[in-house]
Amino acid sequence: MIPYGRQQISEEDIESVVDVLRSDFLTQGPVVPQFEQAVCDYTGAKFAVAVNSGTSALHIACLALGLQQGDWLWTTPITFVASANCGLYCGAQVDFVDIDPLTWNLSISVLEEKLAHAKTQRRLPKIVVAVHFAGLPCEMERIRQLSKEYGFSIIEDACHAMGGCYQGVPIGAGAYSDITIFSFHPVKNITTGEGGMTVTNSAELAGQMKRLRSHGITSEPQQMTRSPDGPWYYQQIGLGFNYRMTDLQAALGLSQLKKLDEFIASRRRIATTYDYELSAFPLQLPYHTAQNNTLSGLHLYVVRLQQGSVHNRKELLENLRACGINVHVHYIPVYAQPYYQQFGYNREDFPEAEKYYSQALTLPIYPSMGKRDQQTVIAALHEELTRQTNKKEFVKS
Ligand SMILES: *Cc1c(COP(=O)(O)O)cnc(C)c1O
Repeated sequence: MIPYGRQQISEEDIESVVDVLRSDFLTQGPVVPQFEQAVCDYTGAKFAVAVNSGTSALHIACLALGLQQGDWLWTTPITFVASANCGLYCGAQVDFVDIDPLTWNLSISVLEEKLAHAKTQRRLPKIVVAVHFAGLPCEMERIRQLSKEYGFSIIEDACHAMGGCYQGVPIGAGAYSDITIFSFHPVKNITTGEGGMTVTNSAELAGQMKRLRSHGITSEPQQMTRSPDGPWYYQQIGLGFNYRMTDLQAALGLSQLKKLDEFIASRRRIATTYDYELSAFPLQLPYHTAQNNTLSGLHLYVVRLQQGSVHNRKELLENLRACGINVHVHYIPVYAQPYYQQFGYNREDFPEAEKYYSQALTLPIYPSMGKRDQQTVIAALHEELTRQTNKKEFVKS
């Protein structure tokens, strides 16, 4: 089966994990801060806090920004459920901003309208989670302008975008947001097995997130309510969790990070081949042109079946899977999940997300994908689409 995405693990990666197994620390030890520093160096962010998943990263980012009951968190409906669940964890309410029909990220014009309306209702969001869908950066400069106007904080959910850049600067540098979060799940751009990280330029937010990942405990005397009883002393000064990353994971992450640029270059090569080979197919291709020095992290390669054509997406997906190609759909709109029904969303409020969901198909893309496998995918897609449209072939213009 050709997967839609998969990790690439080298002998070097394996050795770095084995080295930790032979060392004194298995849980959070010296390698976690090394990995954090390496991510700071790579992204240009001042502070990094490693955690055990991208989901935990979203949770502590929301808490550090003060999200609580009575607040609203807004995000895109076309994302993994974790981008929205983090709001619910904090007791806040969640609302969605419909997507842009070209970029498939949350729409800036819809966000603008929704903010203007929310202001009149006195229910402006406390946090907007900007998801860089498939790796394509959101228009962060515009979102920052709106955040200043309406007073919300910004979390960049960059689980798809590590290794990409916005206006020539790596994703995570945080010029236009408060906190950026990454996931190191095996399908993402680099992996630690499970794992995640938050990066920020605020010492205060970083300190809060460090405590939140470890039970709300501090060992820093200046943060304590009184002077320490002795060198063993620590204080729990808030309610936190055990969200720590292990040194085993950090060693893998550190080793993987060295190859991130190589991985992204491979993803770019594969995406460029798809862009060219599929250009005449009756498909809407992903928008990831290198405008304004902005480059996608290319976590996913999603195409949309053209509207009004006779394509049957379900049949197409089933037939491609029968050919050994594990095509997928990213994502089911979050508001359509059964758990979210209780909050009373109206599908008609998200016409672009609805349309997107009926047409989207994720094609395989991962660094180790060979030319042969990619040609297999392209040929199978060609065969299915010509059959469904009664055409012999599609002619490139
Ligand atoms: C993968 C992902 C997450 C969650 O990351 P985990 O490490 O699996 O917890 C959150 N948001 C998006 C957009 C993701 O793709």
